[in-house]
This record gives sequence, structure tokens and C-alpha cells, in this order.
Amino acid sequence: MVKGMLSKREETFFLSGFIDETFEFSALLPSQGGQLKLNFQAVLGISSLGLRHLIDLLATLENKSVAFFECPRLFVELFNHMPQVYGGRRHARRIVSCYAPYCCPACSLSVDVLVPLESVRFDCHELIVPSAKCHICRSAMNFIGDPMEYFLFTYG
Ligand SMILES: [Zn+2]
Repeated sequence: MVKGMLSKREETFFLSGFIDETFEFSALLPSQGGQLKLNFQAVLGISSLGLRHLIDLLATLENKSVAFFECPRLFVELFNHMPQVYGGRRHARRIVSCYAPYCCPACSLSVDVLVPLESVRFDCHELIVPSAKCHICRSAMNFIGDPMEYFLFTYG
């Protein structure tokens, strides 16, 4: 198992590996104002205790500006089941972008595509997800699954 690691580039904290209770969550407490930017792209997993520490951290940051970038699918499932993972339903807009499963009907490529959540919207009671282009054959790819279920955290 790859141990959880934290690095910082410019103003964003990048989390990676397997996050458990030994992860240095305290390093994420901002010393001053400003937005806490977290990038989860390289996170491979999170233990129950790691999750509790993340939830506790967000509770202490209740009135602060926090932004979640590039959340992998495992985080999307957590967001849908436990809104506390991003600080509660009223903070759904903290999630800036996430990965979603797409498939190419032409060449069958299956890939997780990064979706900016500002591009996910309702139209006539239907949740519209952005299109994506296959990087192998340039065809238009389709989101796999039910957008209403996958993106529940954006409106539920
Ligand atoms: Zn293709």
C-alpha cells in the first residue's frame, strides 16, 4: 500500500496514496485566511479513520473557503453516500471538478474523464453532463451510467 503523502505546489495541496489516520491533516489547517485548495487526483484510497480525520478537519473549517479539485471516482461515491466528506450538503459547491466514467462507442475505450462541475447542469429535469472526445479516435464519448445517480452530490 502506498502511504498517504502531501505536497504543495503554488497554492494547492496535493494528496496522494492511501490516506489513513497517520496522514498529516494538521498541515492542511490554513495559517491565515484565503482558500484551502485540495487536489485528490492521486489518492488511491482512504481508510475509515482517515475519513473521520478529513470530516473533523472540515468541521473546523466550517466558515472557511475550501475547494476540492480532481476528485477520483472513489471520492464521488463517498460524496454521494456521506455529504460530511465535503463538509455537508450546503457546501456542495466546494467540489470544483471530479472524474467520471466515459466510454467511446467507436473504439470501446473506457476512461475516467475530468469533469468541471460548473459544466454539469439541469435542463428540462434532466442532468446534462459535458461531452468528451476520445483521445484515441477523436469520436464523441458517452458518460457511462445514470448522471442523476453519479452526480447526486451536486443537487441532492
Ligand atoms: Zn475512440
